[in-house]
Amino acid sequence: MKILLTNDDGIHAPGLEVLEEIARAFSDDIWICAPDEEQSGMGHALTLTRPVRLRKHGERRFSVTGTPTDAVTMGLRQVMDGPPDVILSGVNRGANLADDITYSGTVSAAIEGALAGIRSIALSQVTNKEGAATDDTFEAARAWGEKVMGPLLDTPLPKRTLVNVNFPALPADRIRGIRAVRQGFHDYSRGTVVEGRDPRGFKYYWFGLQAIEHTLDHGTDLEAINEGFVSVTPLQLDLTHHASLGELGERYG
Ligand code: MN
Repeated sequence: MKILLTNDDGIHAPGLEVLEEIARAFSDDIWICAPDEEQSGMGHALTLTRPVRLRKHGERRFSVTGTPTDAVTMGLRQVMDGPPDVILSGVNRGANLADDITYSGTVSAAIEGALAGIRSIALSQVTNKEGAATDDTFEAARAWGEKVMGPLLDTPLPKRTLVNVNFPALPADRIRGIRAVRQGFHDYSRGTVVEGRDPRGFKYYWFGLQAIEHTLDHGTDLEAINEGFVSVTPLQLDLTHHASLGELGERYG
């Protein structure tokens, strides 16, 4: 089994090492192609206005001067000796739950894989306010990664779907299991914009990620993580809201 790994936190991200450990439990044919710098929050951006440079760091290990989507594109079209069976993106440092995924470079790298017709899985380690539940930020992902990955490698999944996995910010022995759940919803309307002044006296703005109010609807990824489970959410790329299609069609009829 040929596996391509990427990580939107960059080629040197600790979470990429964790992902490589998980992947090596299933295969020795591992390829890595990741952005050279952190690209969190870049979503599904594709670099079109400047060139992308490729750097080789070792056998089957490459970085690109671009986005997570660029990294997957380069991995598939330039770097690898043939298409992978699986693309794994992560393990991201920080949650990608509910509508976080619309900003997520981690999930978008998996979306790029799904668009290419390849089984693709995004993995994220939830962190708490202090950054970690234990000394090892990725303890939960390390301990539960192989267990969660097994079924994801051979369960039949339709084309243009991908899977989003989140590990709770808990010590491994306090995790209660794995739940397949739907995508929840965050209320981001209270996100903060922090104003400051740079050393030359000019204002700057920095988007804050403060605690988000949300209702933990039953059966969602938010609820599963809150209750101490690893969440597994299959996602589809068809964003059409089918229930509204008929009504809009009639208005234009
Ligand atoms: Mn990230």
